Amino acid sequence: MAKVAIPSVDEVLRGETGCVVVARFGRAATLAAVRAALEAFRAANKGVGLQPILNRDDVAAAIASRAAEALEAQDAPRLRRVLNLTGTVLHTNLGRAVLAEEAVVAAAGAMRAPAALEYDLETGSRGERDDIVRGLVCELTGAEDAILVNNNAAAILLVLNTLALGRESIVSRGELIEIGGSFRMPDIMARAGTRLKEIGTTNRTHLRDYADAIGPETALLLKVHTSNYLVQGFTKEVGTNELADLARERKLPLVDDLGSGTLIDLARHGLRRERTVQDALKDGADLVTFSGDKLLGGPQAGFIVGRRDLVRACAKNPIKRAVRLDKIRLAALEATLKLYRDPDRLPDRLPTLGYLTRPLDDIRAQAERVEGPLGRALGPPFEVGCCACTSQIGSGALPLETIPSAGLAITPRAKKQSGRQLEALAAAFRRLPVPVIGHIEKGALILDFRCLDAETLFVEQLEKLSRMPLDAEAEP
Ligand SMILES: *Cc1c(COP(=O)(O)O)cnc(C)c1O
Repeated sequence: MAKVAIPSVDEVLRGETGCVVVARFGRAATLAAVRAALEAFRAANKGVGLQPILNRDDVAAAIASRAAEALEAQDAPRLRRVLNLTGTVLHTNLGRAVLAEEAVVAAAGAMRAPAALEYDLETGSRGERDDIVRGLVCELTGAEDAILVNNNAAAILLVLNTLALGRESIVSRGELIEIGGSFRMPDIMARAGTRLKEIGTTNRTHLRDYADAIGPETALLLKVHTSNYLVQGFTKEVGTNELADLARERKLPLVDDLGSGTLIDLARHGLRRERTVQDALKDGADLVTFSGDKLLGGPQAGFIVGRRDLVRACAKNPIKRAVRLDKIRLAALEATLKLYRDPDRLPDRLPTLGYLTRPLDDIRAQAERVEGPLGRALGPPFEVGCCACTSQIGSGALPLETIPSAGLAITPRAKKQSGRQLEALAAAFRRLPVPVIGHIEKGALILDFRCLDAETLFVEQLEKLSRMPLDAEAEP
């Protein structure tokens, strides 16, 4: 009866492979991983009778390798880079805007060294962090004053809590939005401590509905951009400009939650025009809130811009401290906003706008280049063909607006179990070293190439697909 030679923890660590693993992952982590690997090895060999006599050193090396594999898996980032071929340019679940190189460099700089974040270099006294971008935001939007917070949800929370705590905020029933996740306007309002006064109906709200609702408890009028749906047909909503007159007459602040909030006329770049922040301010909104990582194309952030006395009141609210921006994002935001001083070059420098304005011919040519390699990687079970598809801006900008795009449609040749086969294929794409995210539509896996700038990377990892189980049986 030959026994398997089981080395000690120490032997594994001192072995040639063990030393390499210790050098890479450190002694403590390696020790734990080696213990676990030894435990698993013992369990696997328990009660095993006849075994070839293994060299102790070989076993030690094998254990060390197994420990290294486990450590490597642990070490891989959980926030994985992906290729967004969904066709949704600002995909909330994929992190929304891809930042401009200028913003990336600025953020890295702010991370590496101390920065004058809240420090006035002229006087040597304490400064305010939002001063870093205030001038720029006012210059670009025409606003009197501005502050920045964590995101647009925080901006709304802060505005409502500052201006309407314990009092009423008037909102049209047609604008009580749910953005997704747990962001529902009525819930946010409740947490902000304001009482929601709903007016009008889902499809129609008139100016007189606002006027009739105003009472001694009213703190503000809130206008919300219905950013992810459209009420169509027999509808009536009251524009900010009409509301502004009423708000002024009754001496109430008018708050406009723009959602995406673009700073430029998108029509200049061949897209449909979306109301800009400047428009909202010109229409008479006293405060406008919007996101940094939607159409603006910057880091996650929330803007509160508008009337100075109201912005200052928000800045003084203790909640501001809880939702303020950090230096990394402030640096990225400053760099992003600076690009707006040269709108002509914006599509070349701001990835979000670059993707949105990418010429269809360019996208189609890319799909044609990739069609062959992808077809070869997937082999006979699948048919791969160029297709027309429709991209979306996403994140609630211009709902229902689609942009003609191009990509590849992958269909299983066998009709039997084609649904499960598609799921298996989509899963295989997600298991690639840099996961590829497409979407299944009408019996095909669609890869929209609008946002693919890493074409070489995409093509290089295709051969890995040919080694993955792609038949329906392979999936549980
Ligand atoms: C996206 C959106 C929000 C939430 O903005 P975040 O920056 O994601 O917090 C709020 N209101 C509207 C109208 C939106 O479109």
